[in-house]
Amino acid sequence: MVHEIYPDKLDNSYKNKSITDSDRVMVFKDRCVLIRKIADKYALPEYKDIKENITSGLRYLFSIEGRETCGYFLAQAEHVGSTDGLVFLPLSEMRYIKGEGFKEIYFTVCTAYHLHKWYADNRFCGRCSGRMIHSDSERMLCCEACGNQVYPRINPAIIVGVTDGDRILLTRYAGRAYKGYALVAGFIEIGETPEQTVCREVSEETGLKVKNIRYYKSQPGGIDGNVLTGFFCELDGDDTITMDKTELAEANWYRRDEITVEDDGYSLTREMIIAFKNGAYALK
Ligand SMILES: [Zn+2]
Repeated sequence: MVHEIYPDKLDNSYKNKSITDSDRVMVFKDRCVLIRKIADKYALPEYKDIKENITSGLRYLFSIEGRETCGYFLAQAEHVGSTDGLVFLPLSEMRYIKGEGFKEIYFTVCTAYHLHKWYADNRFCGRCSGRMIHSDSERMLCCEACGNQVYPRINPAIIVGVTDGDRILLTRYAGRAYKGYALVAGFIEIGETPEQTVCREVSEETGLKVKNIRYYKSQPGGIDGNVLTGFFCELDGDDTITMDKTELAEANWYRRDEITVEDDGYSLTREMIIAFKNGAYALK
């Protein structure tokens, strides 16, 4: 999965840190990230490469420790993207790019984008509309007028592999750019446990009842600002699917030998489908 970058490691503890020439800079524009592309190789710009272009907003995000340790900073920049192979790469294209070292880039971009969105969406207080001030001691924004404190927001969601013996329920989303196979998924509502969300989402999207819900793995989803919690469960009773056509374009049972999905090394969804196909982790 995209966040599995061992032997590298994300250090997201808050630091009041100044930038150095070799630190990486994240510049976002319209759901695109500034990146250096030479032939098939990608690299995030170092501070020394674009410091002349940075206009404002240099802010420490996190560090990656391991094979190469460096800090990552958010910035706004102008007049970049036309020289030295720097381009604005759409985030939606990153899931299709492979290559040595790209997973680490993808993960850091996803994580930085989540923070970028949170900073951009919280410049003013939601309680009194006062200006939000950055704390020096933790990742927190505080309203200078009323004292309202805002911490980074993460939306919890579930994804679930509904199984029935040798079959799993696969879906395709309606009205989304991603046309591949998916699993039933949805956000956890206030007042729910993740297991209750599993039951509700499966029922809403397919009309099925489920039992024996078991946790599998989870994944931070920076581009969408969520954390995805994966479960497997078993069909309980009738296998007739009543599909929610506003959410889904397809929902069907697939036997293990009918599954054509391939692991992309990035997504929890695909890993779960492959895990079921291979007989691992799935319930009998
Ligand atoms: Zn306020």
